[in-house]
Amino acid sequence: MQETSVNAWNTFLQFIQKSISETEFENWFSQINLVEHTDDRYVLKVPNIFVQQYLLENYKKELASFLPLDEKKQPCIEFVIEEPKAQEKKTPTTPLIQEVKKEQKLRLNPLYTFDHFIEGPSNQFVKSAAFGVAQAPGKSFNPLFIHGGVGLGKTHLMHAIGHTVLEKHKKLKIECITTEAFINDLVNSLKNKSVDKIKRHYRSLDVLLVDDIQFLQNRINFEEEFCNMFEALINQNKQIVITSDKPPSHLKLSERMTQRMEWGLVANIGVPDLETRVAIIQHKSELKGCNISEQIAFYIAERIHQNVRQIEGAINRLCAFAHIMHHPITLDMVMSTLKELLEQVTPKLVSIDSIIDSVCTTFEISKSQIKGSSRQKEIAKARQIAMYLAKEMLEGSLNQIASHFGGKTHSTLLHAWKKICQEIQKDETLKRQIEMVQKNLSQ
Ligand code: ADP
Ligand code: MG
Repeated sequence: MQETSVNAWNTFLQFIQKSISETEFENWFSQINLVEHTDDRYVLKVPNIFVQQYLLENYKKELASFLPLDEKKQPCIEFVIEEPKAQEKKTPTTPLIQEVKKEQKLRLNPLYTFDHFIEGPSNQFVKSAAFGVAQAPGKSFNPLFIHGGVGLGKTHLMHAIGHTVLEKHKKLKIECITTEAFINDLVNSLKNKSVDKIKRHYRSLDVLLVDDIQFLQNRINFEEEFCNMFEALINQNKQIVITSDKPPSHLKLSERMTQRMEWGLVANIGVPDLETRVAIIQHKSELKGCNISEQIAFYIAERIHQNVRQIEGAINRLCAFAHIMHHPITLDMVMSTLKELLEQVTPKLVSIDSIIDSVCTTFEISKSQIKGSSRQKEIAKARQIAMYLAKEMLEGSLNQIASHFGGKTHSTLLHAWKKICQEIQKDETLKRQIEMVQKNLSQ
């Protein structure tokens, strides 16, 4: 080991320690160990993938300024994930230690709990379903199938179920895996000739949480194995929770598999509305020991709307900047720090007329019909969708927006918005129609 390299990593740590809260440093950085290094290679040992992601997503710039860079100007870091210590000790262990090991082995993100999940109309239904499953595994919705776009909290909810089961049902055997990890497990067991052992392991579980099932598409052999295991578990009332970026019927999987996944509850997690996004921003910034005013929270929430992970990235950046500069977060600071991000995610200006136009085109109705008072089913639905989108996407008072619909009132608008918010969670066709209107808007 060379002294200079040690100093580079240590200097980075010292710098970070000064720029973030003690709790954050303790939670994340104290778990990272430099295990090996040369002048142009740093090997960091991390307890799980989340710590690695956290470091790279939030401190890439700082890493790049302290550590050597490769030819692509990326910091020369390699990560190794710490092996769970479960089999290392042969001496009897106390229950407490066993539990810690169970947590470690499950590799749940410590922050992905129900307490840290902010509810709103777009996710209330799926959150209650997840909560119900966690309280009584195998006794309510089985399987629970959660689907939705990227960065909307699917993995968060799945880990929240994991945490609750570990806490409330200590005796239950639980496994939380990504689909990739499941496939890797099978591949390795084939190599080691231990397929039966791995099959027995999965079939002996009480709760199985499988993240990102879309990766099972086009993996026919594994799909069949998964399906057999799935049936074996469900037949014994063992709980299964699956997440996916699409609903079962849109996945390229066998009919048998699709049907099985639809046996229980299929729930959609949608894009959070403005108020929920503001609440998420405030909650996340408090967690980081950083104060973001309501005005600034609204400013960010109005501009980043499709992906909570992006919102979180923005907060991380702001909070780090505020800590480093010892400066409260102001609107000017937000505009300069998040300039690039906001430019990327802010869509073209949307107006009430463009929303109405796009709805009329998508549903093939006229403007006068949408602004009129016909209760004919198709027209009324299109009108509600336009009202829903107008409330979601536009600033301005509800009365002001409602007046564009042939002088309707804010309560009609609110009613339409609520109705669509609820329906969108259950009705896949409606969800696609709305996506189509939005797509037409951005063209
Ligand atoms: P997905 O698995 O759907 O791609 P994740 O579960 O990884 O998304 O969520 C992305 C990030 O957004 C996580 O840090 C998660 O904590 C956060 N997040 C998403 N939805 C919420 C919510 N409703 N409340 C709090 N945090 C959320
Ligand atoms: Mg995920």
